[in-house]
Amino acid sequence: MRDLVVAGGGPVGLATALYAARAGLDVVVREPRAGPIDKACGEGLMPGAVVALAELGVVPAGHPIVGIRYVDGSSRAEAPFRCGIGLGVRRTALHATMLDAVSRAGITVTGPEVRQIRHRSDHILVDDEPARYLVAADGLHSRIRGLVGLDAPAAGDRRRRYGLRRHANLAPWTDFVEVHWSAIGEAYVTPVSGDQVGVALLTAQRRGFDDLIGQFPAVADRLAGRDLTRVRGAGPLRQRVHGRVCGRVLLVGDAAGYVDALTGEGIALGLAQARAAVAAVAADDPHRYDTQARRLGRRHTALTVGLLVATRPTALRRRLVPAARWLPGVFGAVVDQLARPA
Ligand SMILES: Cc1cc2nc3c(=O)[nH]c(=O)nc-3n(C[C@H](O)[C@H](O)[C@H](O)COP(=O)(O)OP(=O)(O)OC[C@H]3O[C@@H](n4cnc5c(N)ncnc54)[C@H](O)[C@@H]3O)c2cc1C
Repeated sequence: MRDLVVAGGGPVGLATALYAARAGLDVVVREPRAGPIDKACGEGLMPGAVVALAELGVVPAGHPIVGIRYVDGSSRAEAPFRCGIGLGVRRTALHATMLDAVSRAGITVTGPEVRQIRHRSDHILVDDEPARYLVAADGLHSRIRGLVGLDAPAAGDRRRRYGLRRHANLAPWTDFVEVHWSAIGEAYVTPVSGDQVGVALLTAQRRGFDDLIGQFPAVADRLAGRDLTRVRGAGPLRQRVHGRVCGRVLLVGDAAGYVDALTGEGIALGLAQARAAVAAVAADDPHRYDTQARRLGRRHTALTVGLLVATRPTALRRRLVPAARWLPGVFGAVVDQLARPA
């Protein structure tokens, strides 16, 4: 019987498999889609994520990121990372590099998707295949989270936020990730190579990219006349969970619950969860992961929820960038928290 089946071959599922192989576990990844897989993502790896990936032998090509800059009209505030350099990486480049590392580690990635789970006293049946444990890394709308009853009720309609992303063939004008604030949401601009930037819009409005981008005139001006890639979308972003462990099933990455892409540390957090989940499986103590995952997510949840709530009233939203500018120590400390390893 296998030690571990990982459901989902996105970045967090593949990292889980790499940690598992390093721990001497017999692991297989179930992923229905052939790679490299693209997805709506701001594509900014925080310095902590860059270090964690390098430790797994994953060093993708990208564009260095030196910090975060907030922009609102003519007002701007920036905070450099204090603990290393981040990386803007096309999702497809990150996935291809991870698939390569997984293949070098001798790990099989195979379809189809996981459809059914049956709990047994000392193992689990994953579509009839016995395994000691299942780690579910099947993304924001995790089917496995629902199958094991860990889904919690969603946020109300008005508060649901969505993400839309495109790339423009445009040389980056800065090594900072720029977050442009407007009344309807945020536009993230991430340099991903010497001649391309990614633009991710985060908003509660259910309108198209071309319609929304007009709310961010400084970004819209840069994109005017440029070749843009097709729009990719994701959402609703907020996904709540009752817990992250049910019997021999452990949830990691977006499947383990998600707050918002506003603070751009989904992958850093997912990598830390992957490492903790594998340690719990190796120790045959899955419940220890539940406690650790809660601890790992605490800082991310507090910062993201805090920022979302603080910027909900339009008047406060308008004051955010000037406040960050006049309180550089506070803004720097927040960015430092986001940049550090989870
Ligand atoms: C607009 C936006 C901007 C973002 N910006 C950033 C950013 O700048 N930096 C950052 O770090 N994070 C960012 N994030 C978050 C980041 O994209 C996610 O945290 C990350 O992709 C999570 O990876 P994952 O492997 O958990 O899930 P995914 O990448 O979604 O992978 C899940 C995989 O599971 C597979 N799957 C689904 N169902 C099954 C099944 N039943 N069986 C087997 N496989 C299955 C899918 O095919 C998929 O490949 C952003 C997110 C959004 C939406």
